[in-house]
Amino acid sequence: QAKHKGKSAYAHFAPEMTEVSHERLQMESRLRRAIELKELELYYQPIVHTDSGNLVAVEALLRWNNPTMGMVMPDRFIPLAEETGLIIPIGEWVLEVACKAAVEWKEIAGRNIGISVNVSPRQFRDPRFTDAVMQALDNSGLEAEQLELEITERLILDNSIETAEILRLLDREGIRLSVDDFGTGYSALSYLKSYPFDTLKIDKSFVQDVMKEPEDASLVRAIINMAHSLGLRVIAEGVEDEPQTHFLKAEGCDFSQGYFYSRPLPATEFEAWLKTNQRVQI
Ligand code: C2E
Ligand code: MG
Ligand code: MG
Ligand code: MG
Repeated sequence: QAKHKGKSAYAHFAPEMTEVSHERLQMESRLRRAIELKELELYYQPIVHTDSGNLVAVEALLRWNNPTMGMVMPDRFIPLAEETGLIIPIGEWVLEVACKAAVEWKEIAGRNIGISVNVSPRQFRDPRFTDAVMQALDNSGLEAEQLELEITERLILDNSIETAEILRLLDREGIRLSVDDFGTGYSALSYLKSYPFDTLKIDKSFVQDVMKEPEDASLVRAIINMAHSLGLRVIAEGVEDEPQTHFLKAEGCDFSQGYFYSRPLPATEFEAWLKTNQRVQI
């Protein structure tokens, strides 16, 4: 009887499953060709010094412009790219393009501008990863200190020897390392003292409500203080309005990023932003 029940359940869900997996397969085959068809594009979002509003760095954020699907946001295709391994060539492409862009902006701004690149777990664990990073630096001529790699807590928590070794190798090369979406993982805070991170990025879910929710304000304050006492710098993500900037200034948050300063912009628009918004070096 159980068998019969199982069968009918299967029959009921089968058409839906087929539809989902068909869609997935179609998306995968499109994504597979996205690089050669030049459908991938990097958008750039300013990261500013909280006190002065001066630009210090830029985060590269991936977009996929597909003729049939329109603009596809990373949350819709990065997981697929991870599962299929496509994240490896895509990630290499991102590193190459982002490092070259940072070198061009140095010319425009007349000073160094850091570039932050997101790295996903599968990409990080690929044996060619560190070579790809060094290659992107070599090809662009970008100094290692100008590159920051953003890594999520999910990756760090695997606690493997390999993860620790790769982080130390990148650190020795002078590349900066940040913890992205800080506070959203199930973090064992101890990794902060054993790994060579430079920066914590406070997740936007905490920043968004600092003016409305005293608990969020307390958490953000505590994260900033903890980070500073560990010698880490802090970036607040998702800063959308002026009151939030006052709060973050008062709490000593080093850097800020969010729509209040600028949305992520395509390269040409970012360059225009840079030309009009660049201020004296801090
Ligand atoms: P993330 O690294 O935490 O990036 C920040 C996300 O917050 C971006 O979403 C950005 O557009 C958005 N954001 C920035 N300011 C604000 C704000 O003021 N308010 C709100 N509500 N949102 C804001 P996006 O571009 O959709 O990227 C989503 C995620 O996809 C990223 O989160 C990152 O984890 C991943 N991702 C993006 N580009 C890449 C990439 O090149 N490689 C990998 N592996 N992952 C990427
Ligand atoms: Mg990020
Ligand atoms: Mg370091
Ligand atoms: Mg984040």
